[in-house]
Amino acid sequence: MTIKRVAVVGAGLAGLTCARELTQAGLDVIVFEKSRGVGGRLSTRRVDWATFDHGTQYFTARDPVFMDWISGLMALDIVSQWSPVMSKPNPAEPWYVANPGMNSLARAQAKDLNVVPNTRVSAIQWQGSQWQLAFEEAATEIAHDTAADTAPETTFDAVVVAVPNEQAVPLLQPHRAEWAASLAAIALLPCWTVMLSTEPVASTLQAGQPKSGPIGWWARNDSKPDRSKNERQQDWVIQANSTWTEQHLNADKAVVIGELQKALLAQLGVAQMVNTQTAMAHRWLYARRTPGLATLGLSLWHAQQRLGVCGDGLTHSRVEQAFLSGRDVAMSILNERS
Ligand SMILES: Cc1cc2nc3c(=O)[nH]c(=O)nc-3n(C[C@H](O)[C@H](O)[C@H](O)COP(=O)(O)OP(=O)(O)OC[C@H]3O[C@@H](n4cnc5c(N)ncnc54)[C@H](O)[C@@H]3O)c2cc1C
Repeated sequence: MTIKRVAVVGAGLAGLTCARELTQAGLDVIVFEKSRGVGGRLSTRRVDWATFDHGTQYFTARDPVFMDWISGLMALDIVSQWSPVMSKPNPAEPWYVANPGMNSLARAQAKDLNVVPNTRVSAIQWQGSQWQLAFEEAATEIAHDTAADTAPETTFDAVVVAVPNEQAVPLLQPHRAEWAASLAAIALLPCWTVMLSTEPVASTLQAGQPKSGPIGWWARNDSKPDRSKNERQQDWVIQANSTWTEQHLNADKAVVIGELQKALLAQLGVAQMVNTQTAMAHRWLYARRTPGLATLGLSLWHAQQRLGVCGDGLTHSRVEQAFLSGRDVAMSILNERS
């Protein structure tokens, strides 16, 4: 059977990259996303006084295809290099960020794609020759394919699941139990993230990756290119390491903010910082893959079932891997057609 209509579950970079490749090849693709916007963990929190990249901090580019895409976005000023001042010299490998927030990388990839937001896929069901999607929100109205005057856009020739491992498991379990088991064995670890705006502190440091204490990473968000600059304010993102996050998983946000801000003071070597705005905390339940576990291949594709899986959870929790994974499953689908 020729695959013409594909549903992608999840509008993170993996799902969007898959959808873009397939759409460009002429397939009819719909991306279903449970959140309001695209990007998943490539996220930017916008408030009146600042923006904060509270998920992905920066990314590297090693694969030529990914670098090619990034070079194109650099020419459009959507991506820039970022070399923060750190206590240790920066690695030789360039660090890239998207402008004016990390979310812009996903938005670039989503341009002109058919993305249905606020729609959580609760199940995928095989109906003999096609996939039928079920949605959590019973009231969700999915547009009908009036042009073709055929089935509503909830039936598809193929489905690609592009969500964090834990969220993929219930969707895959009834159809490919062994995939579900493999993904269930690879937990994505949680991460508490704190966002602060403060009066300027007497430190020139702009980012750090402490080897001890609660913090895994911290950065002055306003040191990234194309972020709003204010000489009376500095904007900080503090990310706890997974051990500390697991120990404080259900802690009050106020406690998390207090503890991580105290730890940041020690990193900066300053006695105090004066908050200019309410501090915020965000808990990522599924942030990054447990390091050191075996990879499952760039993506999974089952030709008879016309079912695929992509995302960073299969290999490494890096932006580049999400891109390559989405592209890989799209190539498998396109190979079916040739
Ligand atoms: C705190 C943090 C820091 C990070 N730092 C870095 C870094 O510095 N450098 C780096 O390279 N990488 C970093 N990463 C990892 C990077 O963000 C990920 O590897 C990448 O964004 C994963 O993309 P993805 O498309 O696979 O998944 P996601 O971005 O998680 O996208 C999955 C999407 O699926 C949606 N979804 C889930 N379930 C459903 C459902 N049932 N129905 C519909 N939609 C659904 C979600 O809302 C989400 O939008 C970080 C991640 C976090 C959380």
